Amino acid sequence: MNVIVFNCGSSSMKFQIIETDMEKIESDKDVMLAKGLIERLGSQSLVTFQIEGKPTVKEALPLRDHRAALNYIMKWVTSDETEIPGINGLEDIHAIGHRVVHGGEKFKSSCRIDNEVIQGIEDCIDLAPLHNPANLKGIYAAREIFGPSVPQVAVFDTAFHSTMPESVYLYAIPYQLYRRFKIRKYGFHGTSHRYIAYRYRVLTNTNRENCNIITLHLGNGSSACAIKAGNSIATSMGFTPLEGLVMGTRCGDIDPTVIEYLAHKEGSSVDEVFSILNKRSGVLGISGLTNDMRDLLEEIEEHQDRRAKLAVDMFCERIKKYIGAYIASMNCCDAICFSAGIGENSAKIRERTCENLDFLGIKLDPKLNKQAVGGKEMRISSEDSKIAVYVIPTNEELVFARDTVRVVLNIPKPWH
Ligand code: ADP
Repeated sequence: MNVIVFNCGSSSMKFQIIETDMEKIESDKDVMLAKGLIERLGSQSLVTFQIEGKPTVKEALPLRDHRAALNYIMKWVTSDETEIPGINGLEDIHAIGHRVVHGGEKFKSSCRIDNEVIQGIEDCIDLAPLHNPANLKGIYAAREIFGPSVPQVAVFDTAFHSTMPESVYLYAIPYQLYRRFKIRKYGFHGTSHRYIAYRYRVLTNTNRENCNIITLHLGNGSSACAIKAGNSIATSMGFTPLEGLVMGTRCGDIDPTVIEYLAHKEGSSVDEVFSILNKRSGVLGISGLTNDMRDLLEEIEEHQDRRAKLAVDMFCERIKKYIGAYIASMNCCDAICFSAGIGENSAKIRERTCENLDFLGIKLDPKLNKQAVGGKEMRISSEDSKIAVYVIPTNEELVFARDTVRVVLNIPKPWH
């Protein structure tokens, strides 16, 4: 089955075409045939297309919206010159998977998209006003281009965290506010945490019930997740992706009083304060230099910049705090798994995060830690570390494709 998966942002569209079916899923033999990214929709858009083993195609052209982008993608995918193995026309795409950021309390697993599901995703727009409308645009455009006979599946970022207990997902505010407005912790990056946990189980030959780990998705947006007996029981992002770890431009945990105080002092609106907390905070806000971790680490290396170092210290300290909290919550922990851009590539950040955690029985092997770069999946803790540490590159697109297959074939349990 050829599945195309879409990840639509407000001004971007990512896709992958993956050849997969139940046999391939079970033997881990899915094949990524092609992928691409269109950025800056609505103005001069930047297009990057790639087929495995061939040079990357880069172009700049005006694309008005998601529909125009999807049209352009499918023209490229099906053109004679492109030569994606097994794909000659639209009829060679058998199913479509969409990342949907917010599924609220309604969607606890991936599901086939019909009018009722679309309504459900629309109902969650209030909770994710930037993300869900973009996801819906991708769904509408795909419906128009592929027609109703090609099944479409929604895979929700929030779904994996639907197993969190009430005592964890509620905020300690009047219960009525949860009842009336559904104000609670939802958590995000669920597809990624779920994939990392699945790979950990494959790597260590552990079954779901015995999988007690902490997963760390550290990218531009970052989150930690406590996974007990295979289920998410706590995660650092909350009602929105602003809560939790220090991120590229987001502050993470903060005393909410700061918002009122700052609005008062600066004479700014609540929206303006939130824009600071979302877009001008995190390691960018502290360093005053960049939100990019690689650049920040280079700055420290080359110029010993004090605030760059402070930003990195705060980034790592916050992760440490969550590791400690989650070990206490779970009352056990077999492994900590680093993932995403920073977690997969930065030995320095992993070293700094695991520093002085020997009291908890966490000890890195410095040599292995340095080897784990560029997408390697491996253990990086020393033999005598009580809690193992792994680097496990994430692959959300693969989950989108595999879930799509399971849903289309009516296989009841998620593939992990
Ligand atoms: P996104 O959330 O946008 O998907 P990614 O998971 O791609 O983000 O992660 C992007 C982050 O990973 C950036 O801060 C980037 O600097 C960082 N990164 C990538 N490679 C390295 C590296 N070798 N060392 C440190 N940080 C890195």
